[in-house]
Amino acid sequence: MKGETPVVALARLGEFLAKPDGDVRYECVGVVRRDGKPSIRLHMAASVWMVCQRCLGPVRIDVDSDRELVFVPEAALGDVADEEADSDYLPLVGRVNPMDLVEDELLLSLPLAPKHAESDEECVAVGGVEPDRLN
Ligand SMILES: [Zn+2]
Repeated sequence: MKGETPVVALARLGEFLAKPDGDVRYECVGVVRRDGKPSIRLHMAASVWMVCQRCLGPVRIDVDSDRELVFVPEAALGDVADEEADSDYLPLVGRVNPMDLVEDELLLSLPLAPKHAESDEECVAVGGVEPDRLN
């Protein structure tokens, strides 16, 4: 399954955005892993506008994420000690809405303190302090 959705369609994302422009492209493929666990390979690419923590202007953040989401019974979640670096373990509960997964992964991929590149001349610190608006 693959598709594209405007970032405004992802409600939880809204509070992190400087402006509601941009689209998220995603592709997810369901597979059963060799160890028998159901999983989804989710590839996602997006460009979103966040608030630069130095100048408080909009800064474009490119996200490109490729994750394996592995579903395990909720009771077994605590036993998963060998979680692989590029895999996330999620509780296996009923039906999964792919858009929720896309939104979750996008939220996880966003930087906590987005900033322009050091070399960006338009980026001038406001009052010399770096506000911490995301807390
Ligand atoms: Zn800036």
